Amino acid sequence: MLKFFNTLSEKKESLKPRHKKRVQLFVCGPTVYDYSHIGHARTYLAFDCIAKYLSRIGYKTYYLQNITDIDDKIIERAKQQHTTPKTLARMFEKLYHEDERKLRITSITKYARATDYIPAIVRQVKTLLKRGHAYEIRKDGYYFDLATFPRYGALSRRTSLQAEDAVSRIDESLQKRNKGDFALWKFSKRGEPYWNTELGKGRPGWHIEDTAITESIFGPQYDIHGGAIDLKFPHHEAEIAQQESASRKHPLAKYWLHTGFLTINGKKMSKSAGNFVTIRDFLSTHENAALPFDATTLLRYFILSQHYRAPIDFNEALITHARQSLITFLDFEKRLSSYAGKTLKMHQGEDRRMTTVRNTIFKQFEAALENDFNTPQALGVIFDAMHTMNSKMDTGRATRNDVIHIRTLLTSLYELFDLRFRTVSIPKEVKSLVTQRESARKEKQWQRADMLRVQTSALGFSIEDTPQGPIIHPTYQ
Ligand code: AMP
Repeated sequence: MLKFFNTLSEKKESLKPRHKKRVQLFVCGPTVYDYSHIGHARTYLAFDCIAKYLSRIGYKTYYLQNITDIDDKIIERAKQQHTTPKTLARMFEKLYHEDERKLRITSITKYARATDYIPAIVRQVKTLLKRGHAYEIRKDGYYFDLATFPRYGALSRRTSLQAEDAVSRIDESLQKRNKGDFALWKFSKRGEPYWNTELGKGRPGWHIEDTAITESIFGPQYDIHGGAIDLKFPHHEAEIAQQESASRKHPLAKYWLHTGFLTINGKKMSKSAGNFVTIRDFLSTHENAALPFDATTLLRYFILSQHYRAPIDFNEALITHARQSLITFLDFEKRLSSYAGKTLKMHQGEDRRMTTVRNTIFKQFEAALENDFNTPQALGVIFDAMHTMNSKMDTGRATRNDVIHIRTLLTSLYELFDLRFRTVSIPKEVKSLVTQRESARKEKQWQRADMLRVQTSALGFSIEDTPQGPIIHPTYQ
């Protein structure tokens, strides 16, 4: 039975969706004012894989994501760049989708822009006003009154008095009733975009867009809410306060899943701190034609080989390690194919025993995923199985079933992580270097020939000199 660690209960709980085999999943989307970085990729790849896994094990998964396309940060950045918030937001939204396509994030059923849900936002603020949970501060906006929601802080185990937080976006106003009260609707200031609504000319606060969107699409309650750990407080607390006060239904979401941070030198990678590696930079830096997999496969493996809740401190040594692991899979498969070609017919009598072994390994693999989507544990099962298989191949004891089962296991992993392998084709540049080296050798220019070999090797290819001429091999380094 699939279990997730629910931040709300701080326990691993069996997944029991509200509508049997249907799962409604909402994950906080990006604020579109800059390029997405690999910290975003960490969170979005984790949820992409979780959503695909849910579908794979038979749930009909509706994955909803909002796009924050109006916000203080967008307005500020647009001013700096002498453009309008809308133009800026649309541009970065487009780039965000491009990045997602490159990362093969394809599980999202619907994207919902905040600005497309203004009527729903207004409706929700009006309900909160009517029910006494919101109040107006003149020339400022409408605020949520935290004193009317005693459950506030249940998710993060904090109180409204602890609303100061280095990573939080706090709405400041001296006239707030309680320190942690947050803006639902902000009256327009000069030069800022606004919507002329029953609440007056203004724009939504950050938290209300999510609940207005989820209420419009899922209703007042749904199954899973996700995001990175920074959003737990105050953003997710604010969502709970708004929606549960508006609907008087509890809980807003049954399960709260939070991804760990991707940090760099121990600090959260973030747009505002400026310490980020964009997804596109990562992909172009790590794309290497000499490798049998693309940079997306490398990033997917790197991120998904860590548990989604664990923090990752990004550095190049970890990427090198991920690259090496992918090469290990391919080397293992090569050995497997060669073994299967040469040896297999000799061992066909063990089918029943091997089926049991296969089941045990598969069960372990599945059990790891069912255990709070523990992908590193699932990988551990695979590495152990490869180790056992290598020993069996060493002594010629591996059977046809062994080969089939380990291949099936590897295929399950590739499908789960969406890892894709390719045949390495020799780039023109490398072919040309090798041809030049051949000429240099014929002319006995040994130094030049050596230099050309070094250049070829720097591009990830080695040269084997044979009586029939040079053969080029990728070196996978
Ligand atoms: P933002 O655009 O900054 O609002 O972030 C969009 C999503 O990415 C949210 O779920 C964030 O919590 C998540 N996120 C942002 N930075 C990181 C990071 N360094 N590590 C993991 N997740 C992150």
